[in-house]
Parts: sequence; C-alpha cells; structure tokens
Amino acid sequence: MEFCDKCGAMMVPFTDEDNKRALKCRSCGHTKAIEGKLTVSQNVEKSPKDKIVIVEDEEIPMPKTAASCPECGNNEAYYWTVQTRRGDEGATEFYRCTKCKHTWRNYGG
Ligand SMILES: [Zn+2]
Ligand SMILES: [Zn+2]
Repeated sequence: MEFCDKCGAMMVPFTDEDNKRALKCRSCGHTKAIEGKLTVSQNVEKSPKDKIVIVEDEEIPMPKTAASCPECGNNEAYYWTVQTRRGDEGATEFYRCTKCKHTWRNYGG
C-alpha cells in the first residue's frame, strides 16, 4: 500500500501514457512512479538438445585427436566436450576437422 506524498491519501496503480505503471493519488491526483523492478515473465528459449555448440574462439588451444572427418576424410580433428544440463548424462564430444573445419558430434558416446 502506498500513500500520497502530498496529502497522505491512498494511491492506486494506473498505467500512464508511456505504458509505464505508476501510482496515482485518488484525492489530489499526484502521481508517483512505481519503484523497484517489475516482474516480467519471459519465455526463455530452450536450446535444442542436439544443437552443436561451436567454439568460435580460435585463440583457445584445443586438443587434437585422431578422428575421421566425414566431409573430407582428414584424419585429425580438434575435440571438445560439452556437459549437458542433465546430470545423469555424460559429456557430449564434438569434433572439428583441422582441415575443412567441419564440425560434428560424436554419437558413439
Ligand atoms: Zn494526494
Ligand atoms: Zn574435413
């Protein structure tokens, strides 16, 4: 409950011309912005489970491993692991061909 700074009457919520929520005095018409953060409900987009996470930063030294590129047949690839959110699943391995930069996921587990 908010009370008017000017006359002490009860203030009621209303929406001003900028579509902002504010309080207005029922007695003298004094208005006051609602302080604090408004709770905004957002639909957080969940990323698809099988989305390939590509590490774009070339500065990070990535370990190489022997892996056969399905695109060009190169036998060496960088690899990294991404921990899934579910604790009961292991980390998912990804590979990126050192030659053609093709990136793929290790489905073999
Ligand atoms: Zn007032
Ligand atoms: Zn390749």
